[in-house]
Amino acid sequence: MTRDPRAPPPSLGTLAVHAGEPRRQPGDAVTTPIACTSTYTFRDTAELRDHFEGRVTRDEYGRYGNPTVAVAERKLAALEAAGDCALFASGMAAVTTTLFALLKPGQHVVLTADGYRRTRQFVIAFLARWGVEHTLVEPGDHAAIAAAIVPGKTRVLLTESPTNPYLRVADLRALAGLRAQQPQHRGLKLVIDSTFATPINQQPLTQGADLVLHSCTKYLGGHNDLLAGAVCGDEALVGAVRELRGMLGGVLDPHAAYLLTRGLKTLELRVTRQNSSGLRVAEFLAGHPAIERVYYPGLASHPDHEVARAHMRGYGGVVSFLVRGDEARTSRFIDRCTIPKIGPSLGGVESLIEQPALMSFYELTSEQRLAVGIRDNLVRLSVGVEDPADLLADLASALEDPGSSAPSP
Ligand code: PLP
Repeated sequence: MTRDPRAPPPSLGTLAVHAGEPRRQPGDAVTTPIACTSTYTFRDTAELRDHFEGRVTRDEYGRYGNPTVAVAERKLAALEAAGDCALFASGMAAVTTTLFALLKPGQHVVLTADGYRRTRQFVIAFLARWGVEHTLVEPGDHAAIAAAIVPGKTRVLLTESPTNPYLRVADLRALAGLRAQQPQHRGLKLVIDSTFATPINQQPLTQGADLVLHSCTKYLGGHNDLLAGAVCGDEALVGAVRELRGMLGGVLDPHAAYLLTRGLKTLELRVTRQNSSGLRVAEFLAGHPAIERVYYPGLASHPDHEVARAHMRGYGGVVSFLVRGDEARTSRFIDRCTIPKIGPSLGGVESLIEQPALMSFYELTSEQRLAVGIRDNLVRLSVGVEDPADLLADLASALEDPGSSAPSP
């Protein structure tokens, strides 16, 4: 809690390569072996007794632990400056298991409004059926967030930072401070979904958060080839979530854990590149006459630019923007791009582009989309690790639209 959040933490790039791995691997391999087993055997019944009475620490059954998964957990815990980390089969398995572990019927959650649709659905629709109430608040509106906390009843304050798709950045110290100022808020847990930031750009636990969530499917895996989720925090809290994971069963498969460990090794390299390319793309789009507005926390025009400057080491590789024109004009631009592929998700080495109106919000009408803040001309671009000059040239050419009256540069 004492470190300046902008100060580079000790060698994140080195931790990413080496943390969590034994100095010597079995067979002197340089990489972590995949322990492809569902169960673990015991030498004799005495060893079984030692295990259950806590005299030895070892694995018992795949739903409770796996050595390949444990390596990825230790590596991510080191990167998040956490006491512990538990990995899951997907980001949503991490989100749902964590909320179930922290909450019980009769309690209340404060959730910020801009965020991943399935998390919002889970809190609004599912937890309500389980007897947990919620209040949706605008990210950045600390007065509204403070007012939404019901003393003794609100147990979780959950926000993404940056959020999806408008990249709102939370002032984590201020949020943690809300709790510290009010003794009746002591039981409240501040839970940050840091998927868009990664530990390279921010470490929420060093700024007062209690738990950090990740969809490792995005930047942490980084190659669009795995699904995984994580929760990081102190040993007691993560231990409670891990205990429930053993019951609900959303554990990570060792093959995916191997890919995640491999992805994490290049996290710092990739995110550093994506930070600088993201900024270049955002600046290019902000100066382009065919673009109505750009949402990127690295731009002075973003409402949370100052918060991001104070709290983050980089602004990330996701850029959201409004194309000047309607839904069809926006689709034409997307179809003319040749480098970014059209698809959901983000954070991988391949650039991905999507029009939320035609992706996550397809089943809604334009009016219903507007009610949840999604305009038909909104685009979300996840900048990959391609040469940024090639990306800029591709975007420039795609924005030259012969079918439109919008001016070209
Ligand atoms: N959190 C955020 C911010 C996300 O964007 C997503 C997925 O897009 C999730 C959680 C869920 O992760 P997963 O798709 O790995 O289940």
